[in-house]
Amino acid sequence: MRDAVGKICARFGDDYWLKRDSDGAFPHDFHAALAADGWLGVCIPEAYGGSGLGVSEAAVMMHAIAASGAGFSGASAVHMNIFGLNPVVVYGTEEQKRRMLPPVVAGKEKACFAVTEPNAGLETAKLQTRAERRGDRYVINGAKIWISTAQVADRMLILTRTTPAEQVKKPTDGLSLFFTALDRRRVEVREIEKMGRKAVDSNQVFIDNLEVPVEDRIGEEGDGFKTIIDGFNPERILVAVEAIGLGRAALRRAAAYAKERVVFGHPIGQNQAIQHPLAQCWMELEAAELVAMKAAWQYDNGMACGPAANAAKYLGAEAGFKACQTAVMTHGGYGYAKEFHVERYFRESMIARIAPVTPHLILCFIAEKVLGLPKSY
Ligand SMILES: Cc1cc2nc3c(=O)[nH]c(=O)nc-3n(C[C@H](O)[C@H](O)[C@H](O)COP(=O)(O)OP(=O)(O)OC[C@H]3O[C@@H](n4cnc5c(N)ncnc54)[C@H](O)[C@@H]3O)c2cc1C
Repeated sequence: MRDAVGKICARFGDDYWLKRDSDGAFPHDFHAALAADGWLGVCIPEAYGGSGLGVSEAAVMMHAIAASGAGFSGASAVHMNIFGLNPVVVYGTEEQKRRMLPPVVAGKEKACFAVTEPNAGLETAKLQTRAERRGDRYVINGAKIWISTAQVADRMLILTRTTPAEQVKKPTDGLSLFFTALDRRRVEVREIEKMGRKAVDSNQVFIDNLEVPVEDRIGEEGDGFKTIIDGFNPERILVAVEAIGLGRAALRRAAAYAKERVVFGHPIGQNQAIQHPLAQCWMELEAAELVAMKAAWQYDNGMACGPAANAAKYLGAEAGFKACQTAVMTHGGYGYAKEFHVERYFRESMIARIAPVTPHLILCFIAEKVLGLPKSY
């Protein structure tokens, strides 16, 4: 799988991604190339056009994409296809699966994932976007933020509140999930200027009386949180391996540069002050990948994978970031120049630290759920 995906990625070299990073154009041709060879359906059952493989295989694929040098510009362009429709696979009706999955697998439709809100942040249960039932439809009103690929998406997986927070027992009750058309007459999508990954847009999304047929609700009304959480652990695992892949791309460039660049009469890579940080990054990337693959194996075997998935996302993001930062430093002044690519990797490496969950909240999760310490928030 690594070789096959690598071959496709090799058609989209460093200059391609450098150009996308400056013109901000979505890498439609890269998305189409992966779709053409069936890669977008890696986790989707064969009955709906996919390959019916697991998160372990998806992790190999996403790692290969990022490690090719495509980084998050490449990985995020297809990321939603890979894990995002898991709630439809697990909770969708037969009719929904037949209708919703094949177009995404074939690359005919793109989807975005709309959870984060300006006034809720990491406290998902506080989200305010409302879906009100009116006969055979729901009417959605509200606002989302940071929604990636909403500029190019045809559909969105959107989490909304259907029962007001005051009327539910637990704050996570009363939420409902929909997979529905992104009707631009009712949904305004405003791109956010951001630090990196310019080719894959992230947006403010304003929803004004969007009508959604009942048939587009995934799972039972009020069970949206439970429904969407199925995708959370795979997403953490995939973001982890994407960050690790990006770190490996940075490390590869840094080691090559350190062998070539001669200062004080010898290659800079002969200095331990250059070698050791690179060696340390290699070990940390290896270790993080093992945790990520353990989490993927647990998920694929129906085992609880929360601790390993969260640890993988934390360790992978930090190791990826450190490798990118070390690669910039190894290049000295040239590390700051766009044509050496590592500054792009460095900017992209921040994404995995922040999204979909921050290191702080992962530490809270491990402290509380693994070590049994009191909840701190
Ligand atoms: C490039 C990018 C792409 C994204 N794509 C998507 C997408 O496609 N779909 C989507 O739904 N979302 C997306 N997101 C949103 C992302 O998941 C959120 O930014 C992330 O979950 C953090 O939420 P927030 O920004 O509101 O931070 P906040 O919740 O406002 O938190 C701010 C800071 O406070 C810290 N903090 C908060 N509470 C605590 C606490 N109790 N203890 C310790 N620290 C705390 C956080 O860790 C964080 O550092 C994207 C974000 C980025 C940057």
